[in-house]
Amino acid sequence: MVNSAAPISFRTTPHPAPVPGATRAEAIADPGFGTIFTDHMVVIEYTAGKGWHDATVGPRQPIPLDPAAAVLHYAQEIFEGLKAYRLADGGMALFRPTENAARFNRSAQRLAMPTLPQDLFVEAIRQLVAVDKDWFPSVEGGSLYIRPFMFASEAFLGVRPARQFKFVVIASPVGNYFKSGAPAVSIWISSDYARAAPGGTGAAKCGGNYAASLVPQAEAIARGHDQVVFLDAAEHKWVEELGGMNLFFVMDDGQVVTPPLTGTILPGITRDSLLQLLRDEGRAVSEEPYSVQQWQDDARSGRLVECFACGTAAVVTAVGNVAGEDTEFTIGSGQAGPLTNHLRAQLTGIQRGEQPDPHSWILRLD
Ligand SMILES: *Cc1c(COP(=O)(O)O)cnc(C)c1O
Repeated sequence: MVNSAAPISFRTTPHPAPVPGATRAEAIADPGFGTIFTDHMVVIEYTAGKGWHDATVGPRQPIPLDPAAAVLHYAQEIFEGLKAYRLADGGMALFRPTENAARFNRSAQRLAMPTLPQDLFVEAIRQLVAVDKDWFPSVEGGSLYIRPFMFASEAFLGVRPARQFKFVVIASPVGNYFKSGAPAVSIWISSDYARAAPGGTGAAKCGGNYAASLVPQAEAIARGHDQVVFLDAAEHKWVEELGGMNLFFVMDDGQVVTPPLTGTILPGITRDSLLQLLRDEGRAVSEEPYSVQQWQDDARSGRLVECFACGTAAVVTAVGNVAGEDTEFTIGSGQAGPLTNHLRAQLTGIQRGEQPDPHSWILRLD
């Protein structure tokens, strides 16, 4: 698919009636997660044969869409999620945004969508954060959650890759995912549903994967748990991940295990960063399949001392209890263990410029 090689410049239209300062101040003092939005958005158009064009930063508003737009019928849609952080010195920064750009393009390729130059992806975020910087949450531990996404806007009901797309970036001030510290979560092993199958779209960040995870997630909630964990679709034996977070297991000899990226697991940037931090500390880490039977046996024997889930939104979250159709077990004390807490502190420390950044993961925005 065509990618315009020429640099694209953004046309900026400030919001004619932005949210009043007092209303905004109230919103950013207690933003919650994903319910309030900034004043602006970025839109870049794509047309087959022409490439990416008409990049705008303008008022956040509804997007006109033909009822035959392919995304509404065949779900040709992908997204990313990253945060702008407030640094200790008052500046702002993104965490490994080129990793999001690269993953976005891998998702695009899997969904037969055009790729976007990585520089353009990062520049779009830069532009939005610059125009909406007053929306940065005032609450301790807050950040500006950035949601880039792309969808097929062409009006066409035939089944083939669309020829028109929109790339959009919106932003949402968010507070601490967990208000009072980080409690351990309880998770439900789904035995009736799978998230991703070999050859499917499990490694792509596409809306369709989330649509398919809603029923099992609701089942987990109905049974009194916080999250669902999916097993592999072929054997229903291997632990894969949660609906939107990767999983790690910590053994009593210090070894750390996480399932390998074999195509059915979303390659989390938090996952990758934690693997790097663990290796930097000289820990034994292995990316290998871990069965649900082993999980139960290790939790019961005490070999498994900690288990945590990780992702951009909730960072690092301890898993305290696990239940399934015919099992139930507690991991360690049922609370966040020392390595879980250490890794969360380490990662958030780097993201906020309070810890050294040996891998240059931080991209300053000022
Ligand atoms: C986004 C996502 C993750 C976490 O990825 P991060 O880059 O760490 O935020 C994990 N699993 C799924 C299914 C996801 O969509």
